[in-house]
Amino acid sequence: MATIAVLGGGYAGLRTVKRLVREKVNAHIVLVNKYPYHYESTQLHEVAAGTKKPSDITFDIREAVSDEVDVVIDTVASIDRANKKVLLEKSGPLSYDYLVNALGFETETFGIKGVEENSLSFYDIDSAVAVHEHLEKTLANYATSHDENDLHIVVCGAGFTGIELLGELVHQIPAWTQKYALPEGGIKLYCIEAGKKILPMLPEELSKWAVDYLTEHGVEMHSGTAITQVNPGSVMGGDLEFRANTIIWTTGVRGSHVICDSGYDQKRNRVIVKDDLSVEGQPEEFLIGDVSALPDPASGRLYPTTAQIAIAQADAAAVNVAALVAGNPTKPFVFKSVGTVCSLGPHCGVATIDMFGHWKLKGHKVGLVKKLVNDRSVLELAHVKEMLASN
Ligand code: NAD
Repeated sequence: MATIAVLGGGYAGLRTVKRLVREKVNAHIVLVNKYPYHYESTQLHEVAAGTKKPSDITFDIREAVSDEVDVVIDTVASIDRANKKVLLEKSGPLSYDYLVNALGFETETFGIKGVEENSLSFYDIDSAVAVHEHLEKTLANYATSHDENDLHIVVCGAGFTGIELLGELVHQIPAWTQKYALPEGGIKLYCIEAGKKILPMLPEELSKWAVDYLTEHGVEMHSGTAITQVNPGSVMGGDLEFRANTIIWTTGVRGSHVICDSGYDQKRNRVIVKDDLSVEGQPEEFLIGDVSALPDPASGRLYPTTAQIAIAQADAAAVNVAALVAGNPTKPFVFKSVGTVCSLGPHCGVATIDMFGHWKLKGHKVGLVKKLVNDRSVLELAHVKEMLASN
């Protein structure tokens, strides 16, 4: 019997094994993941800000997948593609006939000096918890230090991650001010963004609404300001120096380093895949989610690295692997967006919805849309009982 190795238990990997089981593929399915749990990576900013606990956005992988799937908890070191073996850090090599690589993203620093040493980023549960602990510790420290930089927070980058994080942080300000007996208006939030326009992927009206919302809630937005260096306690952007004892780095993502460690032809650890999501010259290898790069035939530009696209790719890759196992041809990946939600704290946000027409939403109703999106994700990836337990 053939072995299908699926690497990564994020949205894409987990969805792939679920779909392979649904397709009743006649093969041995092995899912490899670093942690015994899945985390909802689109909600890590909430754990970082402290508006959610890790247990609210995680569930046990073994409980979520069928008994037909072998789950291996280990870290992928690299892939010996010539010999079709996945090299793992703890266990022996895993041989495969088909591979679905869904190893996800890492933080992109663009090689800017001082970023790794002097800023915090969040890319998994432990790093998000570390950001939250640093925030609480630094704000608490003000009582003895009286250093106003303990109350200053700089968010570097105003993509979806940065903006969604700022939304959670402004929501936390009243609670933190009370908890640590801080002066009113003492906590200062800065956002530094290289681009002239913030959230350019949203319609003008919605991106402006999001920026106005954050500004009204005390965030100092600095667009058109490229960060050139991060020092201990300060960020250099344009001609300005922003001093803060909490610096959070959200300027984008690259694919897993396993990609460059495995000899793929790649850019920022993303591999251009064929329209059926397989790798050129390796029909048994599929790359999906943040490790893959696929031009959108409509725009000619690469699809962005969103959870929605990763999940759609997982379905397409699983169906294509099942077709190959059965000796049938693969089909091209087709994607139709259902919209974009950008939250601004737990109860607010902006969204475009492309279902039953084209809708632009802003304000509190987006909080409900976001909850529906999150619940649907957990419902589809885990069991109903986990979803109910986490709410
Ligand atoms: P991103 O690439 O979308 O945004 C990073 C931002 O940082 C950009 O606006 C960029 O101009 C800015 N930047 C880069 N270098 C800089 C510098 N030196 N100085 C100042 N600014 C700099 O990255 P992200 O926000 O981490 O998102 C990653 C991916 O995940 C994206 O595809 C995004 O769409 C997706 N995502 C989606 C959602 C959602 O749909 N709600 C949420 C989070 C992430």
